[in-house]
Amino acid sequence: MSKAYWLFGMLAATAACTPEGELANAAPGPADVAQIEAPQPLLESWVPWNAPQRPFKIAGDLYYVGAKNVSAYAVKTPDGIILIDTGFAQTLPQIEANLKTLGMDISDVKIILTSHAHADHVGGVAALKAKTGARLVASEADAALMAAGGRGDFTWGDDLAYPRVRADRIVGDRETVELGGAVLTAHVTPGHTKGCTTWTMKAGGADVVVLCGTSAPGYDLVDNAAYPGIAEDYAASFDRMASLPCDIVLAGHIETIGLAEKAASGALVDPAACKKTIADARAAFEKELARQRAGGAPDES
Ligand SMILES: [Zn+2]
Repeated sequence: MSKAYWLFGMLAATAACTPEGELANAAPGPADVAQIEAPQPLLESWVPWNAPQRPFKIAGDLYYVGAKNVSAYAVKTPDGIILIDTGFAQTLPQIEANLKTLGMDISDVKIILTSHAHADHVGGVAALKAKTGARLVASEADAALMAAGGRGDFTWGDDLAYPRVRADRIVGDRETVELGGAVLTAHVTPGHTKGCTTWTMKAGGADVVVLCGTSAPGYDLVDNAAYPGIAEDYAASFDRMASLPCDIVLAGHIETIGLAEKAASGALVDPAACKKTIADARAAFEKELARQRAGGAPDES
C-alpha cells in the first residue's frame, strides 16, 4: 500500500463522521479531520532523510521512532504516549511501524509536542491528531505557524507548506507538560522559527535535552523586516540551551548528532557532546552573522 493511499484511506475512513459545525473549535481529534490537506510531495533533497530507520531505546521510557534523518521521539507512560515531532506527513507510516516494533500502538499517542513548525518536523501532525485524537501542545508562535500549515514563514513564505493543524494548548516558556508520571519542560528558544521549542525531561535518571532547530539556512540575519529581532533571539536561545542540564542531547536531524551510531555503541550519555553540539551550532551561527554583517548574502547551504 502506498504512503499516499495510507493517508487518504485513513481520511476517507474518518471524514464521513465529522460534523462540519465543530471545526470552529480547537477541540482535539475528529473535529479537525475535514481540515486536513494533502501533503506536498517530498523535495528531492528530503527523500534520503525519510528512509527507514530501526527504532531504538534512548533511556528509560524514551525511544527513537523516526526516520533516518527526521526525528520522532516517543515517551512511553502508563497513561499513553507523548510523541515529540512527526517528521514529514510521509513519515507517519514509519512511526506507526516503529512504535509497533517496540510494542506500542500509535493509537495510544495522547500528546503531540513539536520542536519547531517546519514541514520536516510537523508535517504529520494533522493526520496523527486526526488518527489518534491526541492533544497538540505548542508554543504560541509555532502554534500560529502550524495553524497556517507553515505558510507565511519568515524565510520560506508559502513554499514549504504542510497540512494545517490547530494546537489544543499553548505552552509558555518553562511550562510543563505531564502524562502518566512523565514531565517535559518547554524552553521557548526562538530563532530557527519564532516559536522554536527545546524540550527537557528526565529519562532513566539522565537529563535529556531535545534541541529545537539551531541552523539558519538561507536566513537573513541582518535587517530582516519579517523578523527584526532574529539575531538577538538566536543569541539568547543559544545561551538558554547551553544553560540546561544535559546528559543526552537529541535533535531534529539525528545524522547531525550521530544518534543511531551512539545508541548502537551504548554511548548515548555524553554531557560533553551536549556542550559541543550547542557550541558548534552557535559558532556556525556567529560566523554566518559576521559574514552577513560584512555585506555577505545569506548562505543557503
Ligand atoms: Zn527547520
